[in-house]
This record gives sequence, structure tokens and C-alpha cells, in this order.
Amino acid sequence: MKRIIVLHVVVFLSLPAWADSVLIENVRIFNGVDERLTPGHVLVKDGVIARVSSDAIDTDEGTLVIDGDNRVLSPGFIDLHVHLTGHVPYNQSDAHGTVVGAVANDVARHFLDSGFTTVRDAGGTHPDLAKAIELGTVYGPRVYPSGAVLSQTGGHGDWRHSSATNPTLQGGSPYIHSDQAVIVDGVDQHLAAARENLRFGATQIKIMGGGGVMSDYDPIHSLQPSPAEIRAAVQAASDFGTYVLAHAYTSEAVRRLVDNGVRCIEHGLLIDDATAKFVKQNDVVISTQLVVYRALKDLPGITDTNLEKLAVVLRGQENLIGLIKKYDITTGFATDLIGGMYPMLTREFTERAMYWTPAEVMAQATSESAKVIRMTGKLNRHGNFGEIREGWVADILLINGEPLEDIAVLRDPENNLALIMKGGEIVKNDISQ
Ligand SMILES: [Zn+2]
Repeated sequence: MKRIIVLHVVVFLSLPAWADSVLIENVRIFNGVDERLTPGHVLVKDGVIARVSSDAIDTDEGTLVIDGDNRVLSPGFIDLHVHLTGHVPYNQSDAHGTVVGAVANDVARHFLDSGFTTVRDAGGTHPDLAKAIELGTVYGPRVYPSGAVLSQTGGHGDWRHSSATNPTLQGGSPYIHSDQAVIVDGVDQHLAAARENLRFGATQIKIMGGGGVMSDYDPIHSLQPSPAEIRAAVQAASDFGTYVLAHAYTSEAVRRLVDNGVRCIEHGLLIDDATAKFVKQNDVVISTQLVVYRALKDLPGITDTNLEKLAVVLRGQENLIGLIKKYDITTGFATDLIGGMYPMLTREFTERAMYWTPAEVMAQATSESAKVIRMTGKLNRHGNFGEIREGWVADILLINGEPLEDIAVLRDPENNLALIMKGGEIVKNDISQ
């Protein structure tokens, strides 16, 4: 037994020390919050930001030293509304789960290579994919999974053919589209489905809380599900220490969801002024997205019904942005790209810069999104990240160019992200040593 222990010590000592300790010198730091850049140096040890200083930092022998050459250093980006398993082409959405998973691999790679070190999967991705990425089996960002989206019969997550049997009325599996959604009716089924997601490792629960664009049976004005069903999902989530996020567009839907305990609204494009104020008073988040609504009309396979509904919600987009600014509602950064649209990811930066300053957009994509991620409470296994702060997780980017003056540099991560570090691990380094 003793001999085995000694062997282990030898193995650890022989590992290259640079894997544990990295000094990034001579950078201008965007800390995730402040608009200004601060010249300095950042030391990373064991996956954590150990020191941030404007003075030179002494290092142990074996520390990997990277000369940042006056580049901008930023926290890694966070997307609050991703569907890793939602990217088989829309007109092939019945594809087998192996295809869904294979495509998700490309999506996950694209996100991390674009500087996104964390994503919240807003429904569809099984928590096992988050675990596989954590274990290094799959390359990608840290994932906060919601598991299968909960949808009532005929709700926004009911993507069955019109002739398909109903699990509640006729039996059969309530899970559809490679387990991306689960059809639930009644309090008991909402409790069971939410608990099943949590059992698999979901860090929050996603429900379809009103009519949606990309579904066939539910008009935008429809309210989904009943107050008691919403409360059941919220109860299951809060019993595990976490929260429910809900898809919704209208004031009526948002009020019902917030009144029954939902903490984060997805989209929200059609809310009025009084509802925005109500949302703010209740400290609820509105996670909305810009690019997807502007690009969706060109998605192959989109139906006339989808297009009609798209036109209705898109009309509210600029009004919502005005309300978010007026009431200073927490919004973060989110994209909701689906059906193979994921290469448009970084376009979200420039689209937002039409309404917010580049520094505000970068804060949305870092510290503000991180606050929303932390709503998972005790289910957060990954510590704090999203800011350049001592003791926080080392998710770090080195950027070529001046993103606070021209955020368009982030549109080209291949050329303009010189370094990507996720949890202290360097996954890209274009800087010659
Ligand atoms: Zn979505």
C-alpha cells in the first residue's frame, strides 16, 4: 500500500508545472464590470485567478509566462440561452438522437472557440452532455443544463406530428425529439418531469410559459400552463435550491409566470411598460435575444404559420429593449440560435451594440450573465466566474484589437481571440512564446 502512495507522488511531481500556474503579463484588464481598462498582470493557479496586480508579479519556477503585449484581457463570455442539441436543420428535426448528438459536438466546439466558456442550455440538452464536457470527453463550454423542456399538450414544446398519440390521454412516452421536450399535463406530471430533470443533473428547470414562434398548435397569445402547474415546477426547482426559467412573450403570460414564482423570463418581446415595471419590482430577469429574431425568416423549412408568429413578436423587440434600459432590468447576454444557425453566434455582439455601448454589451456577456447563472444557488458546482477577481474561476480571453471601441472585433474569434482559457486550462493560445 505504501509503495503505491509513493508511486503516485512521483507521477504528480513529474507533471509539467505550467499546467497549474500561468502568469499573463502586460495586459489591459476589462474586469467584467467597469467600462475602463486597467493595465496589469494576472496570475492563475490551479484553475483560479490567484492574483491581479498593476505591479509585477513574482512567480515560481515552472510557471508559464505569457506576454499579453498590451492586449485586452476579458472574462470568458457566457450565453444564457443556448440549445446545444437544437441544431439539426429545422426541416430534419426528426433525426435520430445520434445525429442530434453529433451536431451538438460541433455546436459545443464553436461556442468555446468563439470565447464562450459557459452556456446555460435553455432546454433540450440532457445533463449527461454537460457532464461529458466536464470530464473532457467532449470539447466545449461549461454547461448549465435545464434538461428536457416542460410543455403542456399543444404548448410551445409540443413538436409532435398532429396525428401522434398523446401520452396523457393515450399512453406512450411523454418525451419527444430525442428527449428535448417532455409533454406534461397536470400538477403531478409537472412535479415528476421537473424532478426527473433534477435527478439527471439539471441546474435549473425550463418551462414553456406561453405561445411561441416555432411550434404549430399554440397562438402567441395562449397562456401556458395553468398557475397550479407553474407552481408545481417552481416547487420542484426551489426544493432543490434552484429556479425556473420560462419562455413567454406577452404581458399576461409574464404576469402569470412571475406571480407563481418564475424568476427568469425568456424573450418577453411583447410586454408593456407596466409589466416591465412589475418584473423589475419582483427582481425577475428578462433574458432576450436579438439576432435570432432578425435571421429566423431565412431558416430553411420555416412554415407560414411560424413566419406569421415571428412578425407579431418582432414588432415588440425595440420596445422591449427600451423597457429593459428604462427600468434597468437584468438581462445578460443570450442568443437562442437553433436549426443550424449557431455560426451567427458572435453577430449578437454587434447587433446589441446598436442599443448599448460596447462595454455594456461585454458586461452583459460576462458579469451580468454570471449573476443569472448564480441563481442556481447550491446546485452551482463550478464556483464564481464572469469577472476578473482574485479567487474566482479563471475563464480568460486575450483579445486582439480594441473591443471597447469597436466590438466588431469579437465577430472574428478565429483571428481576434489570441488566447482562450477555461477554468485555468488553455484551450487556445496563438501567442508565440
Ligand atoms: Zn430557446
